[in-house]
Amino acid sequence: MFDLTGMTALVTGASGGIGSSIARCLAAQGARLALSGSNSSKLRSFREELNDEYRHPNGTHVDITCDLSNATQVEELVPAALDTFGQLDILVNNAGITRDNLAMRMKDEEWDAVIRINLEAAFRLMRAASRPMMKARFGRIVTITSVVGATGNPGQMNYAAAKAGLVGMTKSFAQEVASRGITANCVAPGFIRTAMTEVLPDAQKEALNARIPIGRMGEGGDIGAAVVYLASKEAGYVTGQTLHVNGGMAMFA
Ligand code: NAP
Repeated sequence: MFDLTGMTALVTGASGGIGSSIARCLAAQGARLALSGSNSSKLRSFREELNDEYRHPNGTHVDITCDLSNATQVEELVPAALDTFGQLDILVNNAGITRDNLAMRMKDEEWDAVIRINLEAAFRLMRAASRPMMKARFGRIVTITSVVGATGNPGQMNYAAAKAGLVGMTKSFAQEVASRGITANCVAPGFIRTAMTEVLPDAQKEALNARIPIGRMGEGGDIGAAVVYLASKEAGYVTGQTLHVNGGMAMFA
């Protein structure tokens, strides 16, 4: 089950905390990956690690540098993955940034950067991926949102707007392409243990864990497993949905 052998996947933000776990989980199931990010040296060293860990029979995993704040570069990303693989089965919109500030202090640039990278780039990539996926009559698009898109969070008007926007965008897109064998879904992480959360003082970590019924922060692999499922052939009857992976800290109908 959930065998991705023969499938190709483009993952944005692949060198980040969650993105690298998603990439490892997809590669472990047999997919061949195009890893994307804006920092080419970070990306290259992760690509080398991944090729050592999960050698692919049909060729190596590749990296494609792309600054998602630059519309021209974003438009070139899916064609670059297609040039390499000849097909694109899975797109994972994972890259995301925060530029937190209370509403009254939030600068236009903070709003714009988050909307451009977290929301607009995902739109451009979904639009570009839909063409080859429609031709192939198969595709899986998985977009990483956040619990904050559903609950809101003080200091994160821009981030919450982008994450909630991705959910609406995914539902619309899913309805447009469902008849062509393409599904589009979101995964909404809660608190995930990354380099950023590791440096928090123990007392603060304990306070966070106390808000989570499962009693711990999530791991990157918890998100990777959800992405593998939604990317698989077995999830072909699931579309337009948001899978919340948050240890129960927020439960939605
Ligand atoms: P992270 O470690 O900061 O990684 C972010 C990734 O996004 C990096 O690979 C980075 O690559 C890429 N990125 C940032 N700006 C970019 C740009 N302009 N162009 C291209 N790539 C760019 O973040 P994370 O914690 O793994 O988060 C991954 C996703 O999960 C995000 O969408 C985030 O909103 C979501 N999320 C995270 C949590 C959590 O607890 N960590 C919770 C809920 C949702 P470069 O460094 O190469 O640019």
